[in-house]
Amino acid sequence: MFFHVLLTTKCDLQCKYCYGKSCEDMEADFGDFEVDYSLPSEISYDIELLRKFCEKDSEPVLIFYGGEPMLCMEIMKQIMDEVRAKHFVVQTNGLHLNRLEPEYVNRLYSIFVSVDGDEELTDYYRGKGVYQKVIENVKLVRRSGFKGEVIARMTVMEETDIYEQVMWLLNNPDYSFSSIHWQLDAGFWKNDFSKRPFAKWVEENYNFGIRRLVEFWVDFMEREGEVLRFYPFLGVMQSLLKGEKSLLRCGSGWINFSIQTDGYIIPCPIMSGIKDYYLGHILNVHPLRLRKVYVGLPCVRCEILRECGGRCLYANITKRWSEAAYALVCMAVRNLVESLKTVLPRVRISIGSGKIELSDFEHMKYNSCEIIP
Ligand code: SF4
Ligand code: SF4
Repeated sequence: MFFHVLLTTKCDLQCKYCYGKSCEDMEADFGDFEVDYSLPSEISYDIELLRKFCEKDSEPVLIFYGGEPMLCMEIMKQIMDEVRAKHFVVQTNGLHLNRLEPEYVNRLYSIFVSVDGDEELTDYYRGKGVYQKVIENVKLVRRSGFKGEVIARMTVMEETDIYEQVMWLLNNPDYSFSSIHWQLDAGFWKNDFSKRPFAKWVEENYNFGIRRLVEFWVDFMEREGEVLRFYPFLGVMQSLLKGEKSLLRCGSGWINFSIQTDGYIIPCPIMSGIKDYYLGHILNVHPLRLRKVYVGLPCVRCEILRECGGRCLYANITKRWSEAAYALVCMAVRNLVESLKTVLPRVRISIGSGKIELSDFEHMKYNSCEIIP
C-alpha cells in the first residue's frame, strides 16, 4: 500500500492556486460534509504507532506530504529511521532540500519538487525567487549523490502554456528533471471558476498544447529511441499498450491512502478533516483492510472510465465545480486520451522494431502522481 504521511498542515509559501484560493474559499461551505477545521498543525501521534501500523504491511511506501513536509524535517528523519518501508518519497516545495543531509536524501526513492515551468511563470505562481532556490537545491541534491527520480510537479492554470513550459523543464540549460508531471488546477475550489477564463483557455490553449506535446513525445521516441518521462503520457500509454483497465490512477481510496496529522486515515491527502470519509485511526485499523472508496457519478457512467480511471476522487466527491464546469475538465481528459490513442500504432511500431521497449514505460504507480491531470 501507499500512504501519504501528512507531517504538517503548514507551508511557507503562499502560491496563487493554493494559499490564494484557500483565502477566497474561506466562506465556502462543504455542503453536507462534517469538516474538522482544528487538525493539529504537526503530527500529534507517536511515531511508534506509525511503525506498528506499517509493520502489518510487508511493503508500504510512505510519501511525505504537507503543507510543506520539510518544515518537519526532524520528524521526517525520525520516521525514516524508525519505520520500515519499502520506499520513502517526498513531495516538497523544494526550498529546504539543501538542509536534508545526503544520508537521508539518498534514501529517498523519488523527490517531487513543485515547479511550474520557467522562472517567470514559477515565480508568478509561487513567489519571487522561488524558482532559483528550487533549481539550486535540486542541483545540490544531485551533486550529493542522489540517483533517484526528481519529478518536476507542475500546477497548471490559465497563465500556463503547457507545451512551452514542459519543453522548458525538459531542456532547461541549468537542470533537466528526470520526469515531469502536471496537474490542472481545476475542480478543487468552490469560488474560482466564475472568475476564471478556464473554458476559453482549455479549449484554445491547453488542449492544443497537449496534442502538440504528444506529437513531440512520439517523434522523440521514434527519432532518439527514448521514452520521455512525462507522467500523464507514460501512465495512460502503458495501459493502452497492455490493454489494461484502470481504477483511479492516483490510487486514492483503493491503494493509496493518507494519514492526517492526528493519525486518522482518509482516502486522499487533500480530504483532510472531512470526517465523513475517515477510515479509522492508525491505532486500530489494519493497513491492508481499509475500507475502499471509489468514484461515483458522473464517472461511473462515463464511457472512458476505464481509460481515465476517474481523474480525482476529491473533486468527484466534493463537487466543488458545477457539472457544466467539470465537463470542461473531462473534455481535457478525453483530448489527452484520444491524442495518445491516435499515436498508439506508431508507438507499437517503435516497440516492434526494437527502437524502444515496453519496459521503457515502467514507472512507480500510485507514487503521488495523479497521472490524469
Ligand atoms: S472523463 Fe470525466 S467523467 Fe469520465 S471518468 Fe474521467 S473524470 Fe470521470
Ligand atoms: S487526483 Fe484527486 S483524489 Fe487523487 S490525490 Fe489528487 S486530489 Fe486526491
